[in-house]
Amino acid sequence: MNIKNKAATFFALLIIFLMAFILYWSTTKPVSVVIQAGHEGRTTGNTGAESKRYREEEWNILVADEVTKQLRAWHIDVKRMPARVSLTRAKIAISIHFDGATTPCASGASIGYPSDDSYDFAQRWKHLYASYFPYAWHKDNFTPNLRNYYGYRWIHAEKFLLLELGEITCDTQTKWLKPRLKKIAHLIAYSIAKELGKDVRKPLL
Ligand SMILES: [Zn+2]
Repeated sequence: MNIKNKAATFFALLIIFLMAFILYWSTTKPVSVVIQAGHEGRTTGNTGAESKRYREEEWNILVADEVTKQLRAWHIDVKRMPARVSLTRAKIAISIHFDGATTPCASGASIGYPSDDSYDFAQRWKHLYASYFPYAWHKDNFTPNLRNYYGYRWIHAEKFLLLELGEITCDTQTKWLKPRLKKIAHLIAYSIAKELGKDVRKPLL
């Protein structure tokens, strides 16, 4: 190999290396917060719970958008994601859901998380939301879907909570939840901001 070819090979390798590095960096550069609306954009597979009047996906989107808006107003960077997630690193990730039950009103609120790293945050959220949400709670990670959520494999967060905010197939709960969806979103945003050490005001409930 002559010197010219060696130089050409060297630069080609350098460019490939740089491109690989940029790709790696852009997919793994951590954000402060990921907010996912559960089931958003799914037309097949797990499209979420629904009752005669409400669809979980719509409520998830409404809450996720409002949480995002509030966090950005506090100058916290947020990556807002639908059901189809991409490889991401974050300090905090929250997936928004409402539960459905075959026997109406058999469910309520609950929390899922991938490991004990999220345990304390989960208990702080539970303490906060339980002071507001007047219906039943399940114990944490009570279903395989909560324990083994697919999002845990894609979004690598220091703390990851999947929030079931109530039961959408229970009339008593939806009557209470529907006019409060934005307030619940503000409570979630507050809980995230506090977890990040921000000095923000607790929303009036
Ligand atoms: Zn769901």
